[in-house]
Amino acid sequence: MDEFNFDTLAVRAGSLRTEFNEHSEALFLTSSFCFASAAEAAKSFANSTEGNYTYSRFANPSVDMFQRRLAALEGGEVCVATASGMSAIMAAVMGVLQAGDHLVSSRSIFGSTINMFSTLFSRFGIQTTFVDLTDHQAWQNAVRPETKMFFLETPSNPLTEIADLKKIGDIAKAANALLVVDNCLCTPALQQPLKLGADLVVHSATKYLDGQGRVLGGAIVGSKALMQEKIFPFVRNAGPTLSAFNAWVLLKGMETLTVRLERQSKNALTLAQWLLTQPVVDQVFYPGLPSHPQYELAQRQQRAGGALLSFEVKGATPEAKRANAWRLIDETRLCSITGNLGDTRTTITHPATTTHSRISPQARAAAGITEGLIRLAVGLEHSDDLQQDLARGLGK
Ligand SMILES: *Cc1c(COP(=O)(O)O)cnc(C)c1O
Repeated sequence: MDEFNFDTLAVRAGSLRTEFNEHSEALFLTSSFCFASAAEAAKSFANSTEGNYTYSRFANPSVDMFQRRLAALEGGEVCVATASGMSAIMAAVMGVLQAGDHLVSSRSIFGSTINMFSTLFSRFGIQTTFVDLTDHQAWQNAVRPETKMFFLETPSNPLTEIADLKKIGDIAKAANALLVVDNCLCTPALQQPLKLGADLVVHSATKYLDGQGRVLGGAIVGSKALMQEKIFPFVRNAGPTLSAFNAWVLLKGMETLTVRLERQSKNALTLAQWLLTQPVVDQVFYPGLPSHPQYELAQRQQRAGGALLSFEVKGATPEAKRANAWRLIDETRLCSITGNLGDTRTTITHPATTTHSRISPQARAAAGITEGLIRLAVGLEHSDDLQQDLARGLGK
């Protein structure tokens, strides 16, 4: 399938057909697989190569199809699926690092990832230093002899800062550390980090890979050596396995990934440009705007700006900003008030009191999450309708 373009891979890569010649990929809801004899069972259990099915915690054909398709889309050799985005990140860290190792991470990452790095992994002897995503000197300065991994998201959520993957990848390489990129926001439809210097890509498939807000899922993609020696043994034994049903839903979601992200990026750009002209809006954060501080880098690194944008509403005090932000959210009738993103339906969120409420006020301030900040994960509705929905609250 290597010779095909991305759009073709998104609908066709990874499919496995059974003896019944079904056109749509089959759903294998089975926890285990049978053998013709005791000897066959023994042979199968001794071998863990692809296409060898014993038990669905180890391998399942529906999950394999999802893994094969996502590996093809990311341009990676092997993908291992997990039950959620968080378990993908857990597997990337637990599969590769051990007590005494050190992690350098961007500070602008998903809230649960910050909590997992700072409180959970530290209990197991893995220390994390958080740095500013765009400060290359800070990444360099954080390196210690025991540093084994760099971790980042680009664009960051919710402020859409862009990491220079090539530059940070070079710093990681010189430090003998692996660069792990959470590619949740762009998906491979807009950016392929493995081609730019990342060693592993992790996903919350819950977001744009599903695309319709139905199931949880996650994945890790990387080289055959890294995936087979480090990541797969962890997932197989620890068990944060993706369910066959969720894999099948995600496989269907990926068929429309390119068209969704193109249209959602277009809608997001239209809204971002309009928000810029609103007197009560202080700042708009969107990589597709020429006013974005890393516009050039985003143009080089991403195929489009993506579906996520955020903006700050004005207010004399933090309390006033929060009240204005909450009022705007409450005035919407179309946008869904929810913490999720990656859906065909636009979602609106107040990060300071939801997605980022569990991190300390200091960490929140350092991450730039102010009380006036609103995050919009733009969906597939008509942009005129979305504009009207936001205009109601902005006018008051
Ligand atoms: C949602 C999200 C996660 C966590 O994924 P789950 O599927 O909810 O476990 C990780 N990283 C990013 C960037 C996310 O948006």
